[in-house]
Amino acid sequence: MNYIDKTEVPTPKLNVNTKISKWDKYEFVEINKMKFIRGYNSESIGNSKLFEYKIINTPDILFKLLLLHQKLNVKFHHMQKKISDELSDDDIENILNFCKLYGLPFWGKNPTANFCINQEHNKSKDIALNTIIHPIIPFANENFFHIASFIQCLYWLKTDFLRIVVANNWEDDINIFHLLKSDDKQRMANIHASQSENKQTMLFLPNLNPYVTYWDDEKMCLVLNCENIIHFSTYQLCLLQQAQDYSGGYIKKCPKCNQLFVAAKPQQKYCKNPCTRQAYYSLKRRKK
Ligand SMILES: [Zn+2]
Repeated sequence: MNYIDKTEVPTPKLNVNTKISKWDKYEFVEINKMKFIRGYNSESIGNSKLFEYKIINTPDILFKLLLLHQKLNVKFHHMQKKISDELSDDDIENILNFCKLYGLPFWGKNPTANFCINQEHNKSKDIALNTIIHPIIPFANENFFHIASFIQCLYWLKTDFLRIVVANNWEDDINIFHLLKSDDKQRMANIHASQSENKQTMLFLPNLNPYVTYWDDEKMCLVLNCENIIHFSTYQLCLLQQAQDYSGGYIKKCPKCNQLFVAAKPQQKYCKNPCTRQAYYSLKRRKK
């Protein structure tokens, strides 16, 4: 059933402001038999901001999370304890490497099932209230996230991604292929069967929390606030599903740095971040 009225309301330009929790160092810790990643700063820096706001308008983080999921050996379980028990040193290493580049995916010292909300002190569970930009950012010298919750989060991110791939018949797209695991084929067949039965693509993570925008007088544009990079990635899932002009070349792999990126035009070959065609050929010439 399609009950969306496609009226001609102009699409507003959005800047996406995301809370990022980056630290100098990251380590694996066990507290009360629960497994966490701890982010902290070297002592010379002292207390620092719990997070900062960053404008991000590209989907790289979503792809990096999907690629991280691909690398992990630990399987999804509804019981978080089972995930903790099966976590390998390799898995932890891969998660630590991700944190070094992108910071903590979400934060708080508790297990969670709502990955788009950080369990900060004295915060309400209402994301609409929480996502209003606060002029005062709390200070801290460390921050944590619960690993088993994160593994569940990655599973749902991947599930929603597969649902979008199946709904749009992107299974054979050469660029989507980089983001799929060998056992995803069977999962996609199951998703296909349930989508045909329900005649609906149901996404889990984008339904967890609202997306709150506010007006920025300085930039004269609407700003969307994301609580953390998971909340941000669920917004990117929505964009992916709504990308009307997907031409099969939307997600590409840069031949120079091997990173996935979203091409602005179908013919764009290099990520432009920073690779360009000229840089690629001059590098090749130097290697000869
Ligand atoms: Zn590149």
